[in-house]
Amino acid sequence: MTLQLHDTLQGKKIPFKPLHPGEVTMYLCGPTVYDYSHIGNARPAVVFDLLVRLLRRTYKLTFARNITDVDDKINAAAVETGKPIDEITARFIDAYNADMGALGVRPPDIEPRATRHIGEMIAMIETLIEKGFAYEAQDHVLFDVSSYEQYGALSKRDLREMIAGARVEVAPYKRAAHDFVLWKPSTPELPGWDSPWGRGRPGWHIECSAMAKKHLGMTIDIHAGGQDLVFPHHENELAQSCCAHDGAPFARYWLHNGFLSMDQTKMSKSLGNVLLVHDLIKTIPGEVIRLALLGAHYRQPLDWSADTIESARRMLDRLYGAVQGIEVSDDARAAAEVPAALLAALEDDLNTPKALAEFFELARCLNKTTDKQTKIALAGKMYACGELLGVLGSDPDAWFAGYVEGDLSPEEIDALIAKRDAAKSGRDFKLADAIRDQLGDAGISIQDGRDGTSWRRSG
Ligand code: AMP
Ligand code: ZN
Repeated sequence: MTLQLHDTLQGKKIPFKPLHPGEVTMYLCGPTVYDYSHIGNARPAVVFDLLVRLLRRTYKLTFARNITDVDDKINAAAVETGKPIDEITARFIDAYNADMGALGVRPPDIEPRATRHIGEMIAMIETLIEKGFAYEAQDHVLFDVSSYEQYGALSKRDLREMIAGARVEVAPYKRAAHDFVLWKPSTPELPGWDSPWGRGRPGWHIECSAMAKKHLGMTIDIHAGGQDLVFPHHENELAQSCCAHDGAPFARYWLHNGFLSMDQTKMSKSLGNVLLVHDLIKTIPGEVIRLALLGAHYRQPLDWSADTIESARRMLDRLYGAVQGIEVSDDARAAAEVPAALLAALEDDLNTPKALAEFFELARCLNKTTDKQTKIALAGKMYACGELLGVLGSDPDAWFAGYVEGDLSPEEIDALIAKRDAAKSGRDFKLADAIRDQLGDAGISIQDGRDGTSWRRSG
């Protein structure tokens, strides 16, 4: 495999070579679980899921994607809703996994939660203080940015310029405006843990440094996340980890996805233009959303509009249309290989537009040929490509059946689920099962969870 990846630290595409031959470690900054994920949050999950699938073809990969379950936004959501923090985080962890699952994102090998790693964070902060990279002030612990000469290398910022241009009000406990929090005090009503600096909670950046070290070691091969994380989150993770580990490199390759906007505008709650994955998957097959997210190169901006969905839908129609009616045995599928040109496109820093063009070229060849055996062989290859890209997972007939007029509407589905809930409460399990079957026959799969019953079109 001749994989090339664009490394943010070096600012260019370079050949990928893992630290230990044959093995790769990868860490992706995961969600902060205080709300449903929007389609922008799904972009890193989907594009790096593709990288995971690609790496697993060649390497023994250990992939960690964390959950940030201690954060001021979570505390604010608890106050706003009057619900306990644990209930909020449990609900949105389940929702995140269900939503990403609907987009074909496979679960990571390790899904560390920040609240389960407080001991490791405290230990790392103690090390940083001992080595002279951090200081305690007024119940806070801060990282002394001036102690780390390479600070700014990842985000290409010059610390002196940053200081000169800083307009921020310096908090009284900080020696310098850019020093960042490793630990901060908690009030009795906020989540907190005992520490050498009193009862408190960690800063966001130290969470990832501590979890990455615990599960993947001091030096990881790939660290990934959205572009907005380059500064300050990843710059700070890099500084902390490097200083705590006597200069050992933290991540060998830094990968960042570009931002998703909607109708040329930043997706943000205050603008009211946030599209939640949770809502989208009620009416749009997950594969369509996934393909739409993979349609642009992962480092490029992606503007989301009604057209994005429609063009992904049409693309899947073409792919399913090519394989429809061709029986490919399990053995033939297992033996089929991804064409070298498609693989080469993905190995070139995940060039998905090029890879998709190769996929359509395959569909075109299949449509053109009249030889039955060649058709079967090409359909097998198409399924192999689909497996790698995480699409073409449905039965082609079911795919096209999914479009039939008269499908249950979301309102009708919700009404049937409510009827089933009532039947279950009344212990009428026969009726409840009959409704589940009715939904199943209409192509709707349902899942009972802590937060009620969710549903999606299976295909
Ligand atoms: P958060 O839950 O806000 O920490 O975000 C989870 C992930 O989604 C991070 O990797 C962010 O960089 C990424 N992200 C957030 N908004 C967008 C967006 N509009 N486009 C692409 N990635 C995003
Ligand atoms: Zn992180």
